[in-house]
Amino acid sequence: MIKNDFKKLKINRLDDLYNKEKNKIIIAGPCSIESEEQLLEIAEFVKNNGATVLRGGAYKPRTSNRDFQGLKYEGLQILKRVRENVGIKVVTEAVDTESLESVAQVSDIIQIGSRNMQNFTLLREAGKYGKPVLLKRGMAATIYEWIRAAEYIYESGNSDIIMCERGIRTFNDYTRNTMDIAAIPIIKKETGLTVIADPSHGTGIRDLVIPMSCASLAAGADGIIVEVHKKPEEALSDKEQTIDFSDFKQLMKKI
Ligand code: PEP
Ligand code: MN
Repeated sequence: MIKNDFKKLKINRLDDLYNKEKNKIIIAGPCSIESEEQLLEIAEFVKNNGATVLRGGAYKPRTSNRDFQGLKYEGLQILKRVRENVGIKVVTEAVDTESLESVAQVSDIIQIGSRNMQNFTLLREAGKYGKPVLLKRGMAATIYEWIRAAEYIYESGNSDIIMCERGIRTFNDYTRNTMDIAAIPIIKKETGLTVIADPSHGTGIRDLVIPMSCASLAAGADGIIVEVHKKPEEALSDKEQTIDFSDFKQLMKKI
C-alpha cells in the first residue's frame, strides 16, 4: 500500500469526458498542432468517430532543440478556434509556468508531460485553475513517485487528476518505451484516480497502438490517448507512432 490522500476522497469520475457508448475516455489528435487546416480536419474526423477529447501540442518538449518546437502561442489560438468550431473538448501541454497561464485559458484539460512529472512548482500551479490535470508518468518514475507527484496537484485543492501511463525506460530498446500495463490496476487500486494509457508514446510504434490500447483497457484503464494524423508520414513530430484515419476507425471498432 502507498499512503496517499486520494483514497478517502469521493473522486470525481470526470463523466463529461467519457464516450457514453464505450464508457471510456477517448482522447485523439496529432502530436503537434501544425496548421488550422490540419487540426480542423483531424478534429472533425476523430469527433465523428468517437473521440471525446482532441489532443494537440502547441508547446512541444522535444528531445532535440533542432526539432520542431511547436507553434506555441499561435498553436494555442488555432486550438481555441478548432475547439469552438468543432465543439470538442481539448487537452494540450503546459511545459512551464509561463505557458501554463495561456494553456489554462484555452484548454479543458491541462497536460503535464513526462519530462515535467516532478516539476513541483508547475504541478502546484497547474492545480490552481479548477480544470482537470492530465499527469503523464515520468519516463523513469516509480509508481510511488508518480502518486507523490499527483499529490502536489491535489495540494492546490484539485483532485480531478487523470493519471496517464505512457511507458518507462527499461533495457528493452525495441520499443521507444516499455508500457507498464500493471501500473494501471495498481494506480486504480492505490488511489482510485482516473487512469488512461498512451500507447503512442508508450511504444513509439504505430502497429502497436491498437493492441496496446486493447491491453490497457483490458487491464482496467478508463481511457486512452492516441496520436492520429491524416498523413502520419508527413507529421512534424512522432510520425512513427502516429496512426492514420483508417487505423483510428479500426481502433474504435476493436474497443
Ligand atoms: C505528448 O503527449 O505530447 C508528449 C510529449 O508525451 P510525453 O510527455 O508522455 O512524452
Ligand atoms: Mn508525441
